[in-house]
Amino acid sequence: MTTPFPHLFSEIKVGTALLPNRLMMGSMHTNLESHDEAIPRLAEFYAARARGGASLLVTGGYGPNRAGNVGGHDTSFETVERADAHRQITEAVHDAGGRILLQILHAGRYGYHDGIVAPSPIRAPINTFTPRELDDAGIRETIADFARCAELAKRAGYDGVEIMGSEGYLITQFLAPRTNHREDDWGGSLENRARFALEVVRAVRAATGPDLIIMFRLSVLDLIDDTLSLEETIWLAKELEKADVDIFDTGIGWHEARIPTIANAVPRGAFVWAVERIKKEITIPIIATNRINAPDLAEEILAEGRADMVALARPFLADPDFGSKARAGQPELINTCIACNQACLDHYFVDKTATCIVNPLAGHETEYDMSATPAPKKIAVVGAGPAGLSCATTAAQLGHHVTLFERAAEIGGQFNLAKAVPGKQEFAETIRHYGARLAHLGVSLQLNVQVSADTLNGDYDEVVVATGVEPRRHVIAGEDHPCVASYTDILSGRVVPGKRVAVVGAGGIGFDVAVYLVEKTDRAHLDEEAFLQKWGIERERSQHGSEHDVVMLQRSEGSMGKHLGRTTGWVHKIALRNAGVRQLSGVAYDRIDDQGLHVTVAGEPECLEVDTIVICAGQVENDGLAETLAGADRPVHLIGGAKEAGELDAMRAIEEGLRLATCL
Ligand code: NAP
Ligand code: SF4
Repeated sequence: MTTPFPHLFSEIKVGTALLPNRLMMGSMHTNLESHDEAIPRLAEFYAARARGGASLLVTGGYGPNRAGNVGGHDTSFETVERADAHRQITEAVHDAGGRILLQILHAGRYGYHDGIVAPSPIRAPINTFTPRELDDAGIRETIADFARCAELAKRAGYDGVEIMGSEGYLITQFLAPRTNHREDDWGGSLENRARFALEVVRAVRAATGPDLIIMFRLSVLDLIDDTLSLEETIWLAKELEKADVDIFDTGIGWHEARIPTIANAVPRGAFVWAVERIKKEITIPIIATNRINAPDLAEEILAEGRADMVALARPFLADPDFGSKARAGQPELINTCIACNQACLDHYFVDKTATCIVNPLAGHETEYDMSATPAPKKIAVVGAGPAGLSCATTAAQLGHHVTLFERAAEIGGQFNLAKAVPGKQEFAETIRHYGARLAHLGVSLQLNVQVSADTLNGDYDEVVVATGVEPRRHVIAGEDHPCVASYTDILSGRVVPGKRVAVVGAGGIGFDVAVYLVEKTDRAHLDEEAFLQKWGIERERSQHGSEHDVVMLQRSEGSMGKHLGRTTGWVHKIALRNAGVRQLSGVAYDRIDDQGLHVTVAGEPECLEVDTIVICAGQVENDGLAETLAGADRPVHLIGGAKEAGELDAMRAIEEGLRLATCL
């Protein structure tokens, strides 16, 4: 088969294995690693990605011992029983034509439990636990545990191991003067600090023989002070190669770095240059990572010789068939990862199973019946926002005859607003994907149609109402003043805001609007150079200035943004702080008039003299059609925001659409 991505789909030798393509599914912690009863789920999760074109996969992180666990659950891979149970995973992946490595991750001082150890007893700034210092015997035992873990991985049928040597975990903690204050053979000089990493690799090779793939995840950019210089990293890479590493995966930034590395604030492929500069110095293959979410970008990186393979972790959550669609020349059908972290990493950090907002099937493959319907029906779906699109495409995929109505001139609903927010441009890819799937699946799309009961008088067997939400109005006296706009007016470009802007409401959309106001002319979300400058990577911080003076307000007390995503919210907060956005909590709204917005804060009245007031006070259900259809002689289903506007997010909307479609 010819493919538009010939470099991506060319063979590569890794150790003694010949892989049919250069597409790897990178490690993604799912939160199922500690649950042996979830092994059937994991087996299907990985097998689906192998069937979908990943020639090599890496599991989530498993500790070589309990001290190395990342969280309170036991993810250590140190018993024969656990290894034997994992045969189900390796066999499923092998049957699907893929190869899979077990990631061995010792968290060191990043572990979130009271048994953590590290080269020196220095607490990480992102942890509340302080590690115990390993003594010489403890270090040697830990190395032996890595080797034993790799042996068990081999017993389980894994094709190799990935030794986690990046992101600030134990191995990097030994390497960096920042975290290694030892004065024995394991600290001090670079040779001493690198001894742990090198001994781990040698011990793993000695324990497992020549055929097991050893991948080492190398930190090619730490993004914090007092770690390795570029020259030292190159020296380390060469020594690891001599120690018989087969291939380097790469990592960008320690977790304590305050620079985004995978969030949607990072332009696509923004860190490939850091991989490239190591590639020039080594002879074994090296893998590029971070914000590679499209086959054309992967192809370009490989064609230009900047890396030997590409690793995609989140994009394989978003679409298990990323590889097969790319190979078949159907990249437009790929459900693209939008780098929101909302259902993958943010779930992981609150002890929920990682999944994906644009693909709620991820990690739940065994819970939905996706087999074709034996009794195809005629289904009308009203509303082409995320919920309606999800329902219409899934229903059509399962064999139903679907008509999708939308009152606007385009599909996408609220995603059309989101894509206008700097850093959220990837939301446009979800709309593109749905558009391509509607056409591919033969869904009849009726745009510019305001649906009434009469419209649905056709012979539809069932009707799905996915008409979404309306902004909440009438929250402040004087809201009909010409200076007042809704967030939909601003983000759609219908209203051009003045210089001084008050944002009423500081939920997800209040933050989106504030970011839009202060960053809409900032190229840092799209352009690699601008991004590197803005975040001070190798260069001065850029002097980007905001066009607007913005004040954000909320009635609740306390700091703003508590409910933003854990792994992305801080990026927005830094951006707003740097832009000088004023934030007022505990506000009572008095009225709006020609002077501006009158509020009372801590008992003191204040008039905010602003040119534009943007209301971002949540939403209400747009469910009028459902009320009209009540009592109809066929089933009417309500999903997404039309069903319940409170705390609606894209995940819930898309999941409700998917779930309903499987039950029609
Ligand atoms: P939201 O998160 O519920 O926030 C609504 C805001 O309006 C709150 O700050 C609330 O704060 C204020 N408010 C509520 N009723 C009000 C009233 N009667 N008068 C004045 N202020 C009022 O809703 P949203 O910001 O519209 O977001 C909608 C959904 O989309 C949410 O579920 C959100 O999580 C999701 N979303 C998420 C993101 C993200 O980045 N993760 C981005 C956008 C949207 P006070 O009550 O304290 O004033
Ligand atoms: Fe990508 Fe967001 Fe899905 Fe995570 S939840 S895989 S970041 S689209």
